Order: sequence, then C-alpha cells, then structure tokens
Amino acid sequence: MFQDSSEKAAQFLREAVPLMVKHQIPPTPYNYAIWYSYVSNRDPDLKAAIDGTIKNHGTCPSSATDELFKNHIIGDQLVDSDSAQENLKAIIAELRNQVDEALIGAEGFHQLLEESSNSLQQAPEKLDLGHLIETLAQGTQTVSDSSRIFRTQMEDAQREVEELKKELKRSQQEADRDPLTGLFNRRYFERQMKEMIVNGRGEEHSLIIVDIDHFKSFNDSYGHLIGDKVIQRVATLLEKAVIGEEMAVRFGGEEFMLLIRESNLDKALERAEKVRKMTQGIVLKDRKGGGDIRRITASFGVTRYRSGEALSHCIERADKALYQAKENGRNRVESGG
Ligand code: GH3
Ligand code: MG
Ligand code: MG
Repeated sequence: MFQDSSEKAAQFLREAVPLMVKHQIPPTPYNYAIWYSYVSNRDPDLKAAIDGTIKNHGTCPSSATDELFKNHIIGDQLVDSDSAQENLKAIIAELRNQVDEALIGAEGFHQLLEESSNSLQQAPEKLDLGHLIETLAQGTQTVSDSSRIFRTQMEDAQREVEELKKELKRSQQEADRDPLTGLFNRRYFERQMKEMIVNGRGEEHSLIIVDIDHFKSFNDSYGHLIGDKVIQRVATLLEKAVIGEEMAVRFGGEEFMLLIRESNLDKALERAEKVRKMTQGIVLKDRKGGGDIRRITASFGVTRYRSGEALSHCIERADKALYQAKENGRNRVESGG
C-alpha cells in the first residue's frame, strides 16, 4: 500500500503534519496512517469521509478514527486475523521508515536555515530577515520534534503488535497442550489427525493407545501426587518415543495416544512393544514412604488407519485392542488390525 518514494513520502509527511495540527488530531500511528493517505489522495472515499467528519465535528474524534482505519487502511480483512496483524505490522514498519526519511529531511532543512540565520545575523542590516529565518528554523524544529514523537509512538505500536502476536501464539499453544504433562491434548490430536485424513495422509499413520495398568492403585497406595508423578513420567517417556511429526497425546486420565508414522502394522506393533518394555523400566521413588514405588506397566492397543474411514472408527479399533490387552493379563500389546 505505501509504495511511495522517500521524497514523496517525506513530502506527504510535511503536508499531513500541519493538517493534523490544524484539526487537533492526536499524533498516533493510526492517525498518521489515515492522514498520510488523506494527503496522498490515494483513496477518494477516505478523503470524502474525513472531509465530512471534519465538517460535522470540527475535528476527527477517535471513534471515527477507528472506523476510518478499519475501513480504509486495513480494508476488509478481519482485524484479528493473522494476515491483518501482519498487514498492520508492515504498515507501521513502513511508516517508521518514512518518518525516518522525513526526519532526516527536516533536520537537513533546519540545519540549512540555521546556517543562513547565523550568517545573516552577522550582517546587522539584514536583522529582520534573520529573525524571520530563525522563526522558520524553530518551526522546522517543531516538525522535526513531532516527527521524533511519531517515530517513538510507531516504535511503541510496533512493539505492542509484536507482543500481541507472541501472546496470541502462546495462548494458542497452551490451548493445544495438557497442563499436567505438557503433551498435546485430545482436541489437538483429533484436529491434526482429521487434517491429515482430509489431505489423504491418514493412511501413512498408525495409532497406539496406551493405558497405565491398575493406575487407581497408585493413587490409593501412595496418594494423588504420586499418581500425578506416574502420569508425568509415562508422558515424558512417550514424548521421547515419538519422532518428527509423530505425536504423543494425553488422551484423558491415565490414557495416552501415540500417532506414529507407520503404515505397516507389524512395525507399529514393534514400536509399541519397545515402549512397553521402556515403561516397565521406569523407576519412581516414594520420598515419604522411602524406597521405590511398585513397578509401572501399561497396556497397548495398536491399529492402522484405513483409507476413507472416520477417525472415530480407527480409535474404536485401537480401544478394542487395548481392552483385549487388559483381558489377556495387562502389560502387553494387542493388535486391532
Ligand atoms: P486398568 O488397569 O483396568 O486400566 O485399571 P486402572 O486403575 O488404571 O483404571 P481405572 O479407570 O479404574 O482408574 C483410573 C483412575 O485414574 C481413576 C482416576 O481417579 C484416576 N485419574 C484420572 N486422571 C488422573 C490424574 O490426572 N491424576 C491422578 N492422580 N489420578 C487420575
Ligand atoms: Mg488404566
Ligand atoms: Mg483408563
């Protein structure tokens, strides 16, 4: 949008500032963007809207500014969408460059005027003219100062946008994770898996459902905190067992899901068997009671995603296999085909 040359941009800045002062418009980056657009006359609708608002209110109230910014600067993109934020960031970055350019221009002008003023003051017969030039120089300094204020405000706004983006990303990531283990949650898993299915990539994957054996007895024997620790240790192990775009998920309570990139069922079963052995090797101390807590084991149900089927069908099959593993004595892996 702001594709003007530096000279043109500096010229627009010099035209926009006095107008903003005249109409008592606060020098915020948003207002600057609006008035830059106004003087460059790139958007006749915006010009007409501002002229109308000034005519009615004598100035441009902040409520009107918000509307003008949304309708004419951001356009019809959603303000809270990623692209709008990118756009906003780009605008502010571009504005800052332009103000920098204008600032250099204004300072150069100021210096020139000051030099002229000094040399004129050395010739007393030209005093009036010297005074005039000094006044002009002061005026230019004001422009230069306000440019500096603009720049600071734009930097602040840019930082704010940057922070908001980070915050948004953080909260999105938090929403995808289980707070106790840090693993992905079931909702995230289902979303990702459905996306893979839509993109025809479901067939490349297998599911391993993992359920800690007699977990309730950890809670009953050692207390809920140790129960939580057991879940965390198993989660850490599962996290280590996945690679690349594979996923370890806390499916609920003491149940987990591994999404592995393996379309060959035998190989998927091998992966599960490896994790099963590692799980029974976990050693957890009970500080209060002294000594180690009883051995942790888990049962595993493994299945391959079949082309075209609903995700729920695939999960059901893995669940049935898990049930078989429990029935057949626990601490074992069963296949759901
Ligand atoms: P099975 O071998 O058949 O799977 O038996 P189990 O005891 O593991 O299964 P059951 O479903 O009977 O018990 C699961 C227990 O897990 C019940 C619930 O109180 C406990 N639980 C669920 N989530 C948490 C948690 O976040 N922390 C703790 N400490 N316990 C939890
Ligand atoms: Mg269990
Ligand atoms: Mg369970």
